[in-house]
Amino acid sequence: MSFAYNSRSRQMKYKYEIIRSARKSVSINISSENKITVHCPWTMHITVVEKYLSEKMGWIDKVVKRNAERLADNDDVIEYRAVYLNGEKFPLVFCDENRVGSDAIYVRSVDDISELYKACFSESFIENVYRNAELMAMKPSSVKIKNYKGRWGCCDAANNLIFNYILFMLPPELQKYVIVHEICHTICYNHSAAFWALVAKYEPRYKALKKALAGYNFLISLY
Ligand SMILES: [Zn+2]
Repeated sequence: MSFAYNSRSRQMKYKYEIIRSARKSVSINISSENKITVHCPWTMHITVVEKYLSEKMGWIDKVVKRNAERLADNDDVIEYRAVYLNGEKFPLVFCDENRVGSDAIYVRSVDDISELYKACFSESFIENVYRNAELMAMKPSSVKIKNYKGRWGCCDAANNLIFNYILFMLPPELQKYVIVHEICHTICYNHSAAFWALVAKYEPRYKALKKALAGYNFLISLY
């Protein structure tokens, strides 16, 4: 059980949400849209929470600034005037057909983007997953593409891999990082040191790629 309320005290520069639960320590999460959430124990006094926030303000400022710059760079995407495909921006044109053109992406509505992207790019993406799995000598039971809110991919206990179609919007190296990550889950289900060592074997730049991927998290809530 947990509960949340919004707070902006006189001392605090940013509005934040506080979520209390049966945990022992306090932690701060800043979403790619700059929503700040503080997780803390049931009994922690608000002055202690805010003292902690003040101590972390240098880091919070840095993350908020970086997110704000990225969101400003992508105002055309956020306002549905452009859309990413393989890491490149294309004009998003609203008309009476759904089509991937060489110069623009044409759709009837924002809601049609997922069907268009899935129809056009799922097959080659799934082939790419199997190709990588073969190179890694690992065997997913199945590979599917879905509309996912809140995650890029998933591997279930039966080794079925599911990927978010929004991955088609990302640069190829980030698509590959998510593919390698999920394939590694077919033999290691958690995020242990052994798991990351396995990922590193097939994608040595995984730390930088993981960070770059977080920069595209705002896309997941956009479609
Ligand atoms: Zn994972």
